[in-house]
Amino acid sequence: MAEETIFSKIIRKEIPSDIVYQDDLVTAFRDISPRAPSHILIVPNKLIPTVNDVTEDDELMMGRMFSVARRLAREEGIDKDGYRLIVNCNAHGGQEVYHIHMHLLGGKPFGPLVVSLDD
Ligand code: AMP
Repeated sequence: MAEETIFSKIIRKEIPSDIVYQDDLVTAFRDISPRAPSHILIVPNKLIPTVNDVTEDDELMMGRMFSVARRLAREEGIDKDGYRLIVNCNAHGGQEVYHIHMHLLGGKPFGPLVVSLDD
């Protein structure tokens, strides 16, 4: 059984957060440390620690994460200019919170994704 993170408390509204969307499968809230003018985290209500833990049973929920990203991008007014979706996995992916989440980032240009092979 995976250990809960702060995101479970946010989903259950046990601690304050800026929730912008919630349904039966996912919750979306503003990142506490925004890296862009729009920075929203889209999180499954069910605790799944990393992408490595996703199963076929989760496919509906994973699809919902993309649908909600599209909807929120439109609501944030960033859909036309564009945005970036990021899912980090484990240490080398830079994951800090072990409850899967999709970052929706927009409101400024990011340019091409550059990953240095030397880092
Ligand atoms: P990652 O590095 O992909 O695991 O991203 C974790 C993200 O969660 C970071 O961008 C943090 O700023 C964000 N975060 C951590 N705690 C909170 C919180 N209480 N409310 C909103 N965002 C949070």
